[in-house]
Amino acid sequence: MRKLTGDDMVGMAGIVISGYKVVGCRIMLGDKTDSNHYAILWAESQTNKGNYVTWQAHLESNGYGKGERVEAYWGHYFTRDDKELNREMSEYDFHTRDWSNEEKIATSTDYLSSLYWDCECESYFMHPMAVEECERCDALQSEWPQSRLNEMITGNNFAVDRPVSL
Ligand SMILES: [Zn+2]
Repeated sequence: MRKLTGDDMVGMAGIVISGYKVVGCRIMLGDKTDSNHYAILWAESQTNKGNYVTWQAHLESNGYGKGERVEAYWGHYFTRDDKELNREMSEYDFHTRDWSNEEKIATSTDYLSSLYWDCECESYFMHPMAVEECERCDALQSEWPQSRLNEMITGNNFAVDRPVSL
C-alpha cells in the first residue's frame, strides 16, 4: 500500500470491479498520516444499470515488478427499485462516507434530496416527489420538507416499504 496520486485516480476511473464500473473516485479525506493511501470509489452495476455501490479501496502490490491491483472493500450497496434514488443516495455517500462533520450533514440544506419528501407520519414518511399527498396523514408535498440524504441512506422509512399490517 502507498500514497495515492491524481494519476492513480485517473487510472481507477472506468475500471470494472466485480461487475461494477467505477464512475467516480477520489482520495480519502482525513488527518491520519495514511489517509491519502485510501480512495473512495463510486460504481454502477453493468448488469443492473441504476444499481450502485461505494467502496473504500487502496492499491496493493502484486510483487516486485508485477504492478499493482485495486483492492476494494466495505461496499455500501444501493439496489432499490427506484434507480434515480439509487443514483442520488450513492452520489451523496460517495461524497460524504469518510466525512466526520456529521453536525453539518444533519443540519445543512446541502444534503436534502431532490427526489423525496417527508410527511408527518412517525415512520415510513419518505415519499417520492410524484406523490403529492400522504394518504395516511394527509400531509401535502408542497407544505412538507425534502427528505434528508443522511436519513435516506439508512434505508429506513421509505413509505413504499411500509408493511401491510401497519
Ligand atoms: Zn404521512
